[in-house]
Amino acid sequence: MNCLGIWVLSGLSAVSLLAGPSPADTIPTSAGPVEITPIHHASFTLRAGGKLVYVDPSPAELFKGKPKADLILLTDIHGDHMDLAAIADLSQADTTVVAPAAVAQKIAGVRVLENGQKTSWNGWAIEAVPMYNIKRGPKPGELYHPKGRGNGYVLTYGGKRFYISGDTENIPEMRALKNIDVAFVCMNLPYTMPVEEAAEAVKAFHPKIVYPYHYKGQDTQKFAELLKGTGIDVRLRDWYAE
Ligand code: ZN
Repeated sequence: MNCLGIWVLSGLSAVSLLAGPSPADTIPTSAGPVEITPIHHASFTLRAGGKLVYVDPSPAELFKGKPKADLILLTDIHGDHMDLAAIADLSQADTTVVAPAAVAQKIAGVRVLENGQKTSWNGWAIEAVPMYNIKRGPKPGELYHPKGRGNGYVLTYGGKRFYISGDTENIPEMRALKNIDVAFVCMNLPYTMPVEEAAEAVKAFHPKIVYPYHYKGQDTQKFAELLKGTGIDVRLRDWYAE
């Protein structure tokens, strides 16, 4: 009987791993649950209080027919973060788009936040934080992400703090973050950083929970191993099922 039960359970988990995107994760807050759903690469949703927030929806074909956005948060101008067709598909009359100035040059009606600036929206406090390369770029003297162009975000909802790294290396502003409950941290080459550097940064600011995202081609198991024994809850989810 027990053997059969174990066999059935392992069979079920195998099915759920193969069945598509990971099921939503729910973070309890004093204002009610925040539901996290990975979509693709840098894209995911946060649902809370009946409102749906999309982060960097791209590419557009994955968002056709998806529920409309109440808020769209954009980090940067690159195509894996800013897809004009996806934004058009997800937008309705009262959708708010929050983005850095470089993005606002391409999209009308954006609420612009620069690094260090804050705004609030439907129970969420939104702070733009730096994201940038220190050393990696397409050629000497150029960086993939110059400091000040893009935004990471620290979001607060119901007393919980969520950090979205955007495309960045192991920068001092990330290491200095305080009281982060849930972190989404990029790790891919050549544009951001390898898993070793991501693990060093995460150890320094010590979120309670970390989701590797924007990790195409990287060994996230190794990232998890590097954080073993730190007490940080590393949550590996499939961001490339779609
Ligand atoms: Zn990117």
